[in-house]
Amino acid sequence: MMGGTVDVKSEPGAGSTFWIELPTEIMPEEPNRVASINAIPAQHAVQHSVLYIEDNPANLKLVIQLLGRRKHIQLLTAHTSELGIALAVSHHPDLILLDINMPGMDGYQVLEVLKADASLKNIPVIAVTANAMTRDIERGRTAGFTEYLTKPLDIVKFYALLDKLLSRNTTVL
Ligand code: MN
Repeated sequence: MMGGTVDVKSEPGAGSTFWIELPTEIMPEEPNRVASINAIPAQHAVQHSVLYIEDNPANLKLVIQLLGRRKHIQLLTAHTSELGIALAVSHHPDLILLDINMPGMDGYQVLEVLKADASLKNIPVIAVTANAMTRDIERGRTAGFTEYLTKPLDIVKFYALLDKLLSRNTTVL
């Protein structure tokens, strides 16, 4: 179908060579195809936005990598609580990931600010923390976190939770 050939040379006891040959003339068609894909406006490609508030660069880097594989998610990051609240106010993300242990305002205090804002209080907020004790998880649920993820992140659980909460958001649209 591509105008090329597939061939094989085999010698008993010595080995085999398999190869394909494709004419290079068809290559100029490729840039056009790629250009038409890129021409789709960005707002159609990005369907969801997630804000991650986290002071630890290693954790930020990991989540940037994980969400980089989800092309429909735009990730906003904040390395301080104050910046995180400012981004939540200005961008109204679909989901917020919030580190509990932050210098200055901690995650509970940030959550309190978010829940006190009528335009932000319905955004699901996931606590992300190394405090994996049952008591801590209960405190998190009581405080109003939608879910509680412990570090180190369980990647399968992370994706599943994200998909679940964001698909809930899609049905509203
Ligand atoms: Mn932290």
